[in-house]
Amino acid sequence: MNRQQILQLCMQELSNRRTQAQTVAYKNLMKARKHPEFLEIEKKERQLIFEIGKMSAFGGVPIEIQMKLDDIREEKNEILKKIGIHPDKLKPSYHCPHCSDIGYIDKVQCTCLKKIINNILMKESGVGKEILTDFKDFDENVATEQSHKETLLKLKKKFETYLDSFPYNTPKFILLSGKTGVGKTFITECLAKGLIDRGFLVSFVSAFGMNNMFLSYHTCFDDQKQNYMSALIDPDVLVIDDLGTEPNLKNVTIPYLHVLLSERSRLNKLTIVTTNLDAQEILTKYNERIFSRLCNKKESFRAQIVGTDLRLNPNK
Ligand SMILES: [Zn+2]
Repeated sequence: MNRQQILQLCMQELSNRRTQAQTVAYKNLMKARKHPEFLEIEKKERQLIFEIGKMSAFGGVPIEIQMKLDDIREEKNEILKKIGIHPDKLKPSYHCPHCSDIGYIDKVQCTCLKKIINNILMKESGVGKEILTDFKDFDENVATEQSHKETLLKLKKKFETYLDSFPYNTPKFILLSGKTGVGKTFITECLAKGLIDRGFLVSFVSAFGMNNMFLSYHTCFDDQKQNYMSALIDPDVLVIDDLGTEPNLKNVTIPYLHVLLSERSRLNKLTIVTTNLDAQEILTKYNERIFSRLCNKKESFRAQIVGTDLRLNPNK
């Protein structure tokens, strides 16, 4: 799915929500209109609003007229309560109180729209499952060695401070190195879940999947081309899982990885990379420029997790 298709799907979802809220309100109105006293007061209200409209076109509305309208509305609410309909039920009760399910506030995407987009992206992303882990489930005691526990706990604390201030006071890159099973992906998912809950767009991709997208981009010559890179550049947060497991495709992997990392850095977007490689191996497998992107202290937070495979812990 490209960006346009995802957005279309989201707008359809919002439109369904809006229609549903409006239908409920309309049904309640029809129910109220079965009562003659409601019809009567509604008619009075309409007439007065019409009068007020005329008056304001010709100067001003006297305060007593305005007060009369307030009285009528109060009486209308009383009637509604008497016939067992709460006055609020005549107004559509929108899913999102901020944007009334329109998806935008002053041309800026509302968090509800971001969430819908995110759900679709999550389904589209390499993970293919919904992340349910978060820091509430975090337990450093799954690790057996003391140093491993301490590293996990330190990372948790660090990531929680990022969560509180994101997108400010956070690095552009987080690089987590360590052997399989030491908790890199788990702790990354905890951070990602927190960011998703705060309404940010987070996308997951395996290094293998990312490499395939680079290849698709490289070999595509129609107007779909840009979509392959946009999917990686657009999200507020991109998680690249297991960097180093992808095959090195000549003229593809290294140059496009460099473009991707530079572009995300330029846009101040967080990229999280998990890898089995240590710094030296990153330098050897890729190049100086990619190494300095991922490993420079100014833009990047780097941590190495050392320990035994958590999944082998019998106490877990
Ligand atoms: Zn909204």
